[in-house]
Parts: sequence; structure tokens; C-alpha cells
Amino acid sequence: MEKDDNKDDNDDRVPLAETSLLNKLIRRSLIESHHHVEVLQRDPKSPLFSIRTFEELHLKKELLQGIYAMGFNRPSKIQETALPMMLADPPQNLIAQSQSGTGKTAAFVLAMLSRVNPDDRFPQCLCLAPTYELALQTGQVVELMGRFCVNVRVMYAVRGNRVPRGTVIHDQIIIGTPGTVLDWCFKLKLLDVNSIRVFVLDEADVMIDKQNFSDQCVRVQRTLPHSCQMLLFSATFEDSVLHFAQRIVPDPNIIKLQREELTLNNIRQYYFECENKEAKYKALCNIYGSITVGQAIIFCQTRLNARWLFSALTNDGHQVSLLSGELTVEERAMVIQQFRDGKDKVLITTNVCARGIDVQQVTIVVNFSLPTNAMKTVDFDTYLHRIGRTGRFGKRGLAFNMVEKRNLPLLFSIQDYFQTTIKRLDPEDMDELEKIED
Ligand code: ADP
Repeated sequence: MEKDDNKDDNDDRVPLAETSLLNKLIRRSLIESHHHVEVLQRDPKSPLFSIRTFEELHLKKELLQGIYAMGFNRPSKIQETALPMMLADPPQNLIAQSQSGTGKTAAFVLAMLSRVNPDDRFPQCLCLAPTYELALQTGQVVELMGRFCVNVRVMYAVRGNRVPRGTVIHDQIIIGTPGTVLDWCFKLKLLDVNSIRVFVLDEADVMIDKQNFSDQCVRVQRTLPHSCQMLLFSATFEDSVLHFAQRIVPDPNIIKLQREELTLNNIRQYYFECENKEAKYKALCNIYGSITVGQAIIFCQTRLNARWLFSALTNDGHQVSLLSGELTVEERAMVIQQFRDGKDKVLITTNVCARGIDVQQVTIVVNFSLPTNAMKTVDFDTYLHRIGRTGRFGKRGLAFNMVEKRNLPLLFSIQDYFQTTIKRLDPEDMDELEKIED
């Protein structure tokens, strides 16, 4: 194992909230979703109603105008099922899970804007987000989608927005973080919870990742009137999230969008056996022409290693970019955006940094180090996430593994675990390499 690899960078963990924000900052369109939708209805006897067009929702015309001005033509998968439930009368509660980028925010923003009465000049909808930045992002969607709704306004209950005690708030939609919202409700008495008709808890999985936040959310929810509609959204749905969701949302309908299984079936996997890090670098340079045919991500195990590889390739005149934990969120968003737009063809990163970020057009993955865990055995899950694709829609992909001789057992364990074949390649054999490109 390389010297650098001994330094485990798990403590470098990128907080979920940051990944979520990054995805929001770089995403300009909907994730293609071919998912299967699973619905658990509060009343299983009532027919499941789903929509094909926004018109079918009988929205206020200013809202339809807002939606179309945003470039939406038809509802996304999650919106088809969730919107009729969210807009039903009497209101129904909902817990909805689907991966980020599938249209959840747009869906609940639409629900809040639909329920608001512009003539009532007091808070009616309350939305909790796990961070300041995510609250602002959601607020921007409200402002954009609601831009034709006259007299509907948003207020941010976030740190830094100091509102003096006794202020009367006329804005109908309040978006904030749990701690500040609690202060506004109880300490400062700025919010009259009895007038809230819609309560949204966004990014529940990120919320419970942060200390105290689940309790604070529960405390806010407990004060709301029984008639208030409760909506909860999450990108993932582990037991802990579901448990939390059920504490917050009484009698919910539950919608889950199943993510498709990742498989290695349409990935051609190869390995290069190398003496040491320098030999791995040489092998990488030899195949460089092949990897820049498409777009490639090169994974290193640690930040230090990623930086070393970035400098070496740059000094050798290659155009590569580096996605590193040392960058600010905005800088990272910019690096990913450049890559997503095809301006950069090769991205070097660590697993920690790239986790949760979807870059669908990557066709080539290079494991400059195999993913290992604290026990120094292979982290199979990470291997699958780095190179796996969804079965039905996956394009063909290529994976190159750079392996030191002494680490060959790790490579063989991957073959055994996934019952797959990883072919050996000779980095000096140009004929063989050219055959791969075809
Ligand atoms: P999520 O909350 O699940 O992460 P968003 O609501 O932020 O997803 O939607 C992701 C992106 O897709 C945003 O850029 C949003 O404007 C866009 N979007 C959402 N719904 C639609 C739709 N029905 N048609 C086209 N684009 C949409």
C-alpha cells in the first residue's frame, strides 16, 4: 500500500448538507428518472390519482404561468404522484422519498404556493431546511415559481436575519432552519404557529445527520395545529429516516421512488499490475490517450494523493481538474460544472469528495487506488458506486484499476465478490490498448 494511503481520510467526510447543496448549485435540469414508484396510501381503498399534465391540477393561473416560465412542460415522476395528494382537499399528509434532482423541491413549493391566501397577510406555510444555504435555495424557487403571484412573499428565519421582538410578520411563507424557527416561535414570539396550514420538512436525511435538529424539528411540529398539513421529503430512506419521518408526520401517505440497481454487467474492467506509485503513474500516462476519448474520473484514496497526481499530470502538460475537500462549496460546484459541461475531460478526486454527486456522462473510471476500508480490505460498495451503472439504461463503460503487486489479492477479492472478470493489461502494449478503444 502507498504511504499516502495509510492516512485514512474518512475523517474528511463531506457533510451530507454540503453534498446536497452542491447538487443543487450545479443542477439545472431534472434527473432522468426511470424509477419505479411505490405508494403506500393512508386510505388504501381510495383510488390512486396521478396526473400527466400540470393543467390537470387546476392550479391558479399565476402559478401555471410561473411553472411554464421556469421551463417545466410536464410533471416529473415524483410530482405526478405526489402533487394530487398534496393538493387534495381535505389536505393529506405525505412522506416522500426520491433521489436528489427528481423534482421534490418544485413539488412542495407548488403545494405551498397553492395553499397560500395572498389576502391574508400573515405566515401560513412553514418550511424547515437543514442549513442556511439550503433554505435560501428553496426560497429562490418559491420566488421564481411564485413570481406572478401578486402579494405572496417569503421570509427567511435563518441566522443573521435579526427581526426585533414584537415585529408583525406579513409574509405568508416562512423558510428557515430549525433552531432559528424555534426562537421565532417561542423566544421572540414572532410566529403564530396556529395560523400555519402547511408544514414542510425538507431533506429529512440531512436533518437527522445534524445533532439536535431532529429534536428541534419535533418540537416545532408538536406546536402546530392538528389541521396543519405535514409534508416530509428525503433523498434517502434508511430506517432512521423513516422512523424520524413517522414521528413528524401523522397518518401519512408514503411515496418511494426506487433507485435502480447498480450493476457491473456493461462495464469492461481491466487492471495494470505495477511495482509502486511511480509505475502506476507511468501506466496512467501510457493509457492517457485512451481515457481522454471520453470523460474520465480518476479516484485516489486520499486528498494528498489526489493533489500529487494532479500536480504530476499538470506538470506533464495534461489538462486535468481536481475536486478536493480543501475547496469551498462554490469552488467545488464550479469544478463539477466545468466537468459536467465537458470543458474538462479528466477529473481527479477522492471518493469522499465525489460521493453523492451524479455525473452521468462519465464513461471511464480509473481507480488510481482501489477503494479500501479501515481494515485495509476492499470497500466493495464504493467500488460498485464508482464504476457501476444502472442496468437498463447504462451505457457501456470502462474501468481501469492500477494495482501494486502486493495488492493483487485485493483485486482478486473484487472478482470473487462480484463474480466478474477483470482482465490484465500490459501498459506498454499499445496494440492491446488500442483494441480496447474500439
Ligand atoms: P429535488 O428537490 O428532488 O432535488 P428539484 O425540485 O430541485 O429536485 O428539481 C431539480 C431540477 O429539475 C431543478 O433545476 C428544477 O428546476 C428542475 N425541475 C423540477 N421539476 C421539473 C419539471 N417538472 N420539469 C422540468 N424541470 C423540472
